[in-house]
Amino acid sequence: MPSRLLSHLRRNAAAYCAMLVGLLVTGFAASYVQRDLRERQERRFEEAVHDGAERLQQRLDTYQAMLLGTRGLFSSSQRVERDEFHAYVESLELYRRYPGIQGIGFAQWLRPWERQAHVDEVHASGLPDYHLWPEGERPEYTAVVFLEPMDERNQRALGFDMFSEPIRQQAMQRALETGLPAASDRVRLVQETEQDVRPQAGFLIYVPVYRGPEPATPEARRGALRGFVYAPFRMGDLVRGLSFPGFGRTIDLDIYDGAEARAGEELYSSRQDGLAWAPRGQKNLRQEVTLSVAGAPWTLVFTARPSFFSKGTSGQLATVVGGGLLVTLLLFLIIRAEVNGRAAAEAASAEQCRLTHEAQAAVRVRDEFLSVAAHELRTPLTSLKLQLQLLYRQLRQPGPPDRTRMERGMDSCERQATRLSQLVDSLLDVSRLSTGRLELHLEPLELGEVTRELVHRFETEARAAGVEVTVDSPQPVHGRWDRLRLEQVLTNLVSNALKYGRGAPVDVRVRGDEAQAVLEVMDRGIGIAPEDARRIFGRFERAVSSRHYGGLGLGLFITHQLVEALGGEISVDSRPGEGSTFTVLLPLTGPGDASQARDAPSEPPPPTLH
Ligand code: ADP
Repeated sequence: MPSRLLSHLRRNAAAYCAMLVGLLVTGFAASYVQRDLRERQERRFEEAVHDGAERLQQRLDTYQAMLLGTRGLFSSSQRVERDEFHAYVESLELYRRYPGIQGIGFAQWLRPWERQAHVDEVHASGLPDYHLWPEGERPEYTAVVFLEPMDERNQRALGFDMFSEPIRQQAMQRALETGLPAASDRVRLVQETEQDVRPQAGFLIYVPVYRGPEPATPEARRGALRGFVYAPFRMGDLVRGLSFPGFGRTIDLDIYDGAEARAGEELYSSRQDGLAWAPRGQKNLRQEVTLSVAGAPWTLVFTARPSFFSKGTSGQLATVVGGGLLVTLLLFLIIRAEVNGRAAAEAASAEQCRLTHEAQAAVRVRDEFLSVAAHELRTPLTSLKLQLQLLYRQLRQPGPPDRTRMERGMDSCERQATRLSQLVDSLLDVSRLSTGRLELHLEPLELGEVTRELVHRFETEARAAGVEVTVDSPQPVHGRWDRLRLEQVLTNLVSNALKYGRGAPVDVRVRGDEAQAVLEVMDRGIGIAPEDARRIFGRFERAVSSRHYGGLGLGLFITHQLVEALGGEISVDSRPGEGSTFTVLLPLTGPGDASQARDAPSEPPPPTLH
């Protein structure tokens, strides 16, 4: 992982942690809300299913009670007239109080030999078109004689021998044998016309009517049978009349004839467009309920529609998720802003600290330098003052002055003045180098000759210190250099070799090839520790104690700057206690134009080390 990304993650760890926690909490809250919604939906669905099934059961029970009541009408009289039946059914207010029922009728039980008399009787009662249908000889007949209300649909059923049709026959047999109301399986009612665009499935409920009190055995019942009170139902009209909540809008209902939901035995389906489905991820809510309808089992299948799930649910979930994400984002941004603010403050304070340290260090260096500089300047000044006082005293003495002593005093004065002027020159050079005002005056020179002449100037000093300085310059080395600056370089290196050379011989070597000149100053003195070798070329940098060796720590700094200004390089090879060799490489052609005009840097890049 890139280090920037790593440090970004580390810095914002708190913000990311808060985001993670926020996301987790949002996730948990969302899943909790979803589970809660799901449970509520399931409860709502179960309540709707329970309500729907109960309404249907109650309605069917009411029909059966009503049919049993109608049977009472027949049981109480030997003969029920058409008008009487009409008046009775009218009093029931069928369509208002029992929606879904197609009518109430009575089918008379006939033997073949009773058939003609029956038809004649009905003709005489005012229905001249009455006939028994379908035609044909059968051992028993149940002819529809009454069916109220006598609307167009119901009139079509008059005279229909329901026993001729196996499904109806089966229900009637059951009613006959049990003496109880019996519902038929699915039938197409004779009331359905060809014009009905969507013919509905139907069923009938039969209640047996006996002559006299109800017989105890099936055989006795068959012998005493007068007929059946019955009611035909159209399933669509029946279910629509129930109007339980959500029905047909959010919940679908399929009713099957039988104890199982078996294809091909549908009594009713509220679905128009294929199977009901639930949204992705939702378990489809479906529930089966079995009812007993006049001795026949019905299976009710309730299925939730998509609209059932969408009702008021997605809003809650969206609010929880949206709110959670918003709070998480805000938390993340706030913590990140806080962290960034703190980091910026820390960075600013660190920078402030660094600047303060730098400023303090600079002040310390300046103070040190001032005290060293004052000391360095005072030393030659004091001895100059002493010499002058000595000279003055000699002049005031009676008699002619001792010329030799005076000359020696004057020499010493001159040396101290030279030392002072060198010190001042060094300080000026540093100032010039810092401000980039160093100018070079290049001229053709022979390096060996310049070196010999310069070393010659150290003769007195070297002799006084008992040091032998040799110059080895086997071949002349010509180049274009600035004489004054070259002398400065040589002066600094040779005087350092004498100063730190412990009185041992100093060798100066001059070599050259076609491109560059090589100048080496080698002593056998105190040497330099490796950790100091790089630093001593810096401004005010020293590797010795000022108690043992005087100096401003500027000589090598200036030397390094001058060598670079001449387009060359300087390096040192040294070990503590084994002496040092300073090597200067100078291009023969002098520096490029750019180097001449270049600003001298305030701090040098580290020189090469060997
Ligand atoms: P100064 O001699 O005034 O201290 P320089 O810049 O000339 O300043 O030298 C910097 C430091 O380098 C010296 O203080 C000394 O520690 C070290 N140094 C320079 N030349 C030599 C040498 N020939 N042998 C050992 N140490 C040296």
